Amino acid sequence: MKALVYEAPYQMHVRDVPQPRPAPDEVLIRVAYSGICGSELSGFEGRNSLRKPPLIMGHEFSGIIADLGERATLTHPHLQVGLPVTANPLLTCGQCDACLRGQQQLCPSRKLLSAMLPGSNAEYVTVPAMNVLPLPSQLSLTAAALAEPVACAIHSVRLAHPQPSETALVVGAGPIGLLTIQALAVYNLSAIYCADLNPERLAMAESLGAHPVDLREWRGPVDIAIDAVGANPTRAACANLVRPAGRVVFVGLHEAESPLPINDIIRREIICYGSFAYNPRDFRAALEGLAAGHFFLQDSWTRVEPLAAGSACFEELIHGSTVAKIWLQPPQE
Ligand SMILES: [Zn+2]
Ligand SMILES: [Zn+2]
Repeated sequence: MKALVYEAPYQMHVRDVPQPRPAPDEVLIRVAYSGICGSELSGFEGRNSLRKPPLIMGHEFSGIIADLGERATLTHPHLQVGLPVTANPLLTCGQCDACLRGQQQLCPSRKLLSAMLPGSNAEYVTVPAMNVLPLPSQLSLTAAALAEPVACAIHSVRLAHPQPSETALVVGAGPIGLLTIQALAVYNLSAIYCADLNPERLAMAESLGAHPVDLREWRGPVDIAIDAVGANPTRAACANLVRPAGRVVFVGLHEAESPLPINDIIRREIICYGSFAYNPRDFRAALEGLAAGHFFLQDSWTRVEPLAAGSACFEELIHGSTVAKIWLQPPQE
């Protein structure tokens, strides 16, 4: 099959690789759309220790079931060849304390497609049957490929426990920031603010009802600040712009370490959360939210490109694209 293989920093090529075969508990999915995630851009640049070449990236995808392992047919009879699906790309053990608490994203033996396992930038990908979710009727295959980033947004917003009439700031109007604004929208906040240096993306946030602000002059304060960038200044801004006893959620993973005003965080009793990925309930909620129309990226904010254009798309997103999401489409039969 054709796969987009990351071979060295800035080197990604379509190669012929063996088509994976589903293990007894697995499902083989013919990939329809595979979104490029911000977390993969640092991998493409060679700055992510979890993404080592050679590697097939891609973990935000939808597709059609092409084959099932023999046990998957028995344990998951609702999964059948030809069914449109998406999948939770975070594989967890299901037995450790974290998994039993419902915090599968913290499972010590978690494995993510596109990091430790081959991802969906290919014609086919295999996933355990328990991670596969059939699409609600009417949900398009492109919208379904957003389930993973929507699950990230839902998870980070849940951690912040928004209350009616509170205010929130979302820093970063990339796909996660835009979907976070939509996740906040169901909580009846009195205002949602958004900051981004990219004017096109800030306009997208504004069209979702967020008030655009410039972090160099805006003073807040807000009850909740969510950093969907992960740079030193955006993390510090979130800590500085929440009210005393406000909540900050760190989602973006850009810098490995950042200086923060810790004495101020202590004296103002700021509550800080790290937010990583999602649990299976967040993922299910994401799919339901997409089907209900609570989450979307407008057509003009997205683009579909052939797998062969993958490398150029990664470069474009690194240098600041005018679209929020690019979906790669493997060659179709
Ligand atoms: Zn992602
Ligand atoms: Zn576990």
